[in-house]
Amino acid sequence: MNGCIFCKIAAGQIKADVVYTNQQVMAFRDVSPKAPVHILIIPKKHIERLSTISEADFGLVGEIHRVAQWVAKNEKVEESGYRFVTNNGEDAGQSVQHLHYHLLGGRVFNWPPG
Ligand code: 5GP
Ligand code: ZN
Repeated sequence: MNGCIFCKIAAGQIKADVVYTNQQVMAFRDVSPKAPVHILIIPKKHIERLSTISEADFGLVGEIHRVAQWVAKNEKVEESGYRFVTNNGEDAGQSVQHLHYHLLGGRVFNWPPG
């Protein structure tokens, strides 16, 4: 989608520290990490947010979870634990309008989140 920063990263037009990529999904390090491990996992196609995922794309969401398992192993946080979250809309603080999941690890997280 025109002007979408994560579409540009997915297309290789903007540089990112990519840790995993396949035809459908990409994982790269957050530019402003909030934990020792902070990876963003995105579908390469433009979907705005969780609320707008269509029935046809739920398989893609499963693929994103498969990549999350791989990333957690690769980043060595599988045993210590990690958080996997998506911010949907304004109240949640979504700042990039392209569906993305944060995989956070390497420290202890509070619950409930702030
Ligand atoms: P949100 O607040 O929408 O859930 O998360 C957006 C995330 O994208 C933020 O953690 C922010 O640091 C990250 N981010 C924004 N722009 C870029 C970028 O150009 N490159 C990378 N690697 N991360 C970005
Ligand atoms: Zn996009």
